Amino acid sequence: MQSPSHPPIGLYVHIPFCASKCAYCDFASYASREADIPRYVDAVVREITRRGQATGHPPADTIFLGGGTPSLLDETQASRILNALFDAFPIQRSAEITCECNPGTLTPRFAHAIYESGVNRLSLGAQARQTRLLRLLGRIHDWPQVMASVNMAREAGFDNINLDLMFGLPTQTVADLRETLEAALALVPTHFSCYGLIVEPQTPIHRRIESGELALPDDDIEREMYELARHTFVEHGFEQYEISNFARDGYACRHNIGCWTRVPYLGFGCAAHSFFDECRVMNPPTLDAYLAGEAPKIDRLSKEEARFESMMLGLRMTRGVRDRDFTRMHGLSIREAFGEKMDKPLAAGLLEWHEGALRLTRLGMDLQNSVLVDLM
Ligand code: SF4
Repeated sequence: MQSPSHPPIGLYVHIPFCASKCAYCDFASYASREADIPRYVDAVVREITRRGQATGHPPADTIFLGGGTPSLLDETQASRILNALFDAFPIQRSAEITCECNPGTLTPRFAHAIYESGVNRLSLGAQARQTRLLRLLGRIHDWPQVMASVNMAREAGFDNINLDLMFGLPTQTVADLRETLEAALALVPTHFSCYGLIVEPQTPIHRRIESGELALPDDDIEREMYELARHTFVEHGFEQYEISNFARDGYACRHNIGCWTRVPYLGFGCAAHSFFDECRVMNPPTLDAYLAGEAPKIDRLSKEEARFESMMLGLRMTRGVRDRDFTRMHGLSIREAFGEKMDKPLAAGLLEWHEGALRLTRLGMDLQNSVLVDLM
């Protein structure tokens, strides 16, 4: 079945079930739909098998089970999905296989089962040390459950553990964030993803902010929080390799780097996206549409869109976009593709050339959107 000529791709499976819906979440995730899990797993397994055949079984070197909350599956359901992936795609021996889990749902049994099934990286939604902030976000856990989840993961055999943290939350102070960073570092993970809160329309937290019941920290405080997180991680030996991601040497997330550098990937399940043969495929956005067998939407990217996408994704990485890679992918150098559109952000100190790559400066990271508008 192998398609050895195809370079390795990434595989993503979306698990859209959650114990409850967080107040800031606009992802495709559903609380109180656990009864649909068996039917969903059947549908995902069928999709994996079908698309493995349709794409000629390309090899894969990263797998990401994301959500939602994959740790809401039971061990048999998770193993069925992983086995379907292993059956439909030649998975490289050194593959990075991540499972997202949420504290409060992870059990020792699940951690052991997925480790035995080949998962070698665990990503935990820790978010904040303070129970007050976790409740405000609508998270179901508290910090002792984060600590317990890390212990469960270690006992199951995982040494590659990511913690997701958040800043810029209503009522959060710089001192709160410092306390969270200290507590998180004490758990000795290999990776941090640290994101500022994005207030999405139609979410409960948006309504509370709009009504004046809650206030976000102002821009200066939010920037101070980001800088605090950045400095703290770097001081403790983590390398910043993307705007929001920090890793110990050798532990950067290969799956996400693949997405930012336009390595093809296939996504399975509701709301999952794929990028394959220069096409973006978007699976049905809701659980019901997916279960009803609605067809995915397919967009073939124009050459201009593909070049812009390379910049939009690649500039998230601190190393930037390597001219050599860009030229190999698009047949034009970055300068040939973007011409004088680059001059303004370069002159403004938002972009710079460094070791053959175009990258955002520190200031450019804060003003990334304006750089992209210039390049559009
Ligand atoms: S756990 Fe994650 S996916 Fe689920 S509701 Fe909360 S933020 Fe959304």
